[in-house]
Amino acid sequence: MYIPQLEDLGDVKGKTVLVRCDFNVPVTRNNTGELEIVDDFRIRSSIPTLKWLVDRGARVIACSHIGRPHGKYDPDLTIAPMAKRLHEILPDVEVMENLRFSKGEEDNDEAYVRELIKGVDLYVDDAFGAAHRNHASIVGPPKYLRSAAGRLMAKEAEVLSSLLEAPARPFVGIMGGSKVSDKMGLIQALLDKVDKMIVGGGMAFTFLAAAGHSVGNSLVEPDQFEMCKELMVSSDKIVLPIDYVALDSDGRFGREERTGSSRVFGGDIPDGWKGLDVGPDSVKVFDEIIASAKTVLWNGPLGVCEDPRFSAGTQAVATAVANFGGFSVVGGGDSAAALEQMGLADRISHLSTGGGASLEFLENGDLPGLKALRESPSQA
Ligand code: AMP
Repeated sequence: MYIPQLEDLGDVKGKTVLVRCDFNVPVTRNNTGELEIVDDFRIRSSIPTLKWLVDRGARVIACSHIGRPHGKYDPDLTIAPMAKRLHEILPDVEVMENLRFSKGEEDNDEAYVRELIKGVDLYVDDAFGAAHRNHASIVGPPKYLRSAAGRLMAKEAEVLSSLLEAPARPFVGIMGGSKVSDKMGLIQALLDKVDKMIVGGGMAFTFLAAAGHSVGNSLVEPDQFEMCKELMVSSDKIVLPIDYVALDSDGRFGREERTGSSRVFGGDIPDGWKGLDVGPDSVKVFDEIIASAKTVLWNGPLGVCEDPRFSAGTQAVATAVANFGGFSVVGGGDSAAALEQMGLADRISHLSTGGGASLEFLENGDLPGLKALRESPSQA
């Protein structure tokens, strides 16, 4: 699947280039009420593309969405702090205000697209995190302008395509997170590609309950039982936990409230107890599978990792993925945060910035933003 690259734009000197970036980073108000950026990773990630264009003499206009203002101005969602941070690193880039202050952006309105590209010669999409959206700034400009993927976009697409097309085997998927319903489509699609699929986190309990285990008060989605059963019958690739760390019925868990006592159970969980992490025997099984892999794709925590009583499973998997020696791809905020906290992030071959976009790409093999670039009629 060829996606046009920056080099395909031809000579950019003197040209006006609109670059769709992903500056959707967390901000907070400081003591004096000023908006401050919490984490500028996405802004820094846009620099290679912007700098490439600036260095070659282009006039560069960067644009992005921030949050969900739904077509109205919202002072908390202005792009000003992102523009300020960007200008500290790269001053020579113009920055447009939050695209979603205009209703036309999310509506993919044609008149808005024309407005956006007025006076613009070329278009570059470097917003992989938004590439699953059919929004004006993503799918609109390639219809009219010569277009290319920025460096970040191209890298994400290349790595994720390689997983789907020719992964080194054994290829092990590790899925975690809260609800199986959120990731059922992805699990189904990946079962065709992987050799083994480890399922942990809250979603494992729906599989376990569907297989006839008692899971106490653990998170289950009964409307997913049939699908889980079908997958377990048709595929022998799914690996479920065999023991769990559970919290008693009065206990509270999470980032702030932490009460009650926890215990490890094997096989079944008694009434009243809630499974919130995978247990030590499961970790041993998972470790062995990961150690024998050549490719690993990990998305989502194996337990409630924001509570230290239930973070051991996620930490063990993070360590195994950092150490197994093959090609590793990690997506999703919680898994990436666990690796960063443990100082292991630089041992991962590719940390995806994409979130929802990465999952949708892995499920469907394509994204509206990539399709728009490939099908741009203006490619020479
Ligand atoms: P997701 O947004 O689907 O990737 O899920 C991430 C969330 O799943 C985290 O906030 C975890 O606290 C939560 N989670 C992980 N394991 C469990 C579990 N066993 N029960 C309930 N929630 C869980």
